[in-house]
Amino acid sequence: MIKKVAIVGAGASGVLLAHYLLRRDDRYQVDLYDRLSDPRIIEFSNARTFPISLTERGMKALGRIAGLETAVRAIGLEMSGTIFHQPNGKTRVKSRQKPLVTLDRTNLVITLLNELTEQYDNSRLNLHFDRVCTAVDFAAKTITFQSTAPTSEPTDTDLTVDYDLLIGADGARSVVRSYFLNTELFEFEQKYVSTDYKSIILPRPDRALDFNLESGKIHSWRSDDGTFVVLLHQPDGSMSGVILFPRLNQEVANLSTPEQVQQFFHKRFPEVGQMMPASEAEAFLVRSPSRILTIRCNRYHHGDSVLIIGDAAHSVSPSIGQGCNAALEDVAILDELLDEYADNWAEAIAQFTLRRQADAHALVELGDYSFPSSSGLFIEFVLREQLATTLHQLFPDRCSPSLSELVFESSVPYSEILDAYQGWISKVKKR
Ligand SMILES: Cc1cc2nc3c(=O)[nH]c(=O)nc-3n(C[C@H](O)[C@H](O)[C@H](O)COP(=O)(O)OP(=O)(O)OC[C@H]3O[C@@H](n4cnc5c(N)ncnc54)[C@H](O)[C@@H]3O)c2cc1C
Repeated sequence: MIKKVAIVGAGASGVLLAHYLLRRDDRYQVDLYDRLSDPRIIEFSNARTFPISLTERGMKALGRIAGLETAVRAIGLEMSGTIFHQPNGKTRVKSRQKPLVTLDRTNLVITLLNELTEQYDNSRLNLHFDRVCTAVDFAAKTITFQSTAPTSEPTDTDLTVDYDLLIGADGARSVVRSYFLNTELFEFEQKYVSTDYKSIILPRPDRALDFNLESGKIHSWRSDDGTFVVLLHQPDGSMSGVILFPRLNQEVANLSTPEQVQQFFHKRFPEVGQMMPASEAEAFLVRSPSRILTIRCNRYHHGDSVLIIGDAAHSVSPSIGQGCNAALEDVAILDELLDEYADNWAEAIAQFTLRRQADAHALVELGDYSFPSSSGLFIEFVLREQLATTLHQLFPDRCSPSLSELVFESSVPYSEILDAYQGWISKVKKR
């Protein structure tokens, strides 16, 4: 019998899951809902979007669907390392053996949607944008949505639909997950990351600038209080990224005029200041700071028909650049379990919790404590990384790769990485 799957959330994990399920043959009919408008038809807004780096894990999950890896690579740029810009104007380069692919988050979703609708028509796939999930009834197997379309009639506000299987791919503030709280023995922890962020969008850098803005590299600047800027070249020649800043330090949040914005960057990150035109200083001011949550749950499934994936299940600090990679990896793991359990969802989703939990918890821990914000510890981190890389090259069987190589260049399970680097993580945590 055909199973009706409702996926709440058309972010990267929700759309990739639609690909995977529809590929499994015609036993699934997929309805994909999102509170936002269809990103393929509305005007692109870069106010809330940001660049994403996809590493081995994410690319592997995309690569299992014919054509997806190629399509994503076509809109992304390969980065073979990071250039750390230091306050004295010097730079330090950290190269990668395996380049990562960077692209805009919204463009990633648009590409996954385009590939999806090219392959499947509405006999098995229905997309519902401008629909916010407001309630779920696990017993009745129904979901209620309100219309968020600007033109919606008052009568068009509520829609209740039924489902056989429900997937909450609705991000860190998941409404689907909130209904797990009414179920027995569900535990979950939500914490705000101590840094907030704002997007930065800069025009193509002036050729006359006399500092190293090599393309094909991520560019990063950090200051002593843990504020840091990450900028990436974009396919159109512009640069975009984010500034992450400790919430307790109100300096960024308190900037109130474009002049103050420019002064701030000129003083704290002079090279970024030189690239920032008055128009961006003005736009920067209008963007409100975004807060980031980390999420840990003791289970991701409910009964035999509900599962949460991606940020809804394990949102993580962006400093580790793995949230999207892990969200895509979730989908590939669910697919493997469906193979293993012959599409028996009761078994597959219960196993998903068992198999994914240690890695998801380790990921949050690694995200919080891998990269220290204090300057002293950061120097120690850099030295440890160099030593680990050298030792691994000399004695590959006896010495583990560096922490960042394991996170960014391998698909070693996060729980194994945490085991290997528990000493370091504990040290950063104590500070
Ligand atoms: C500044 C920053 C930089 C980052 N950089 C990286 C990086 O380099 N690499 C990396 O791997 N990760 C990175 N991440 C993390 C990454 O963005 C997320 O982990 C990833 O987007 C999670 O995907 P998702 O599909 O689970 O959820 P989301 O992308 O959050 O998608 C959830 C979707 O659900 C919809 N939705 C939410 N609530 C409802 C509702 N009630 N009803 C209907 N729809 C709803 C939303 O509109 C959204 O489309 C970064 C995050 C930040 C903030």
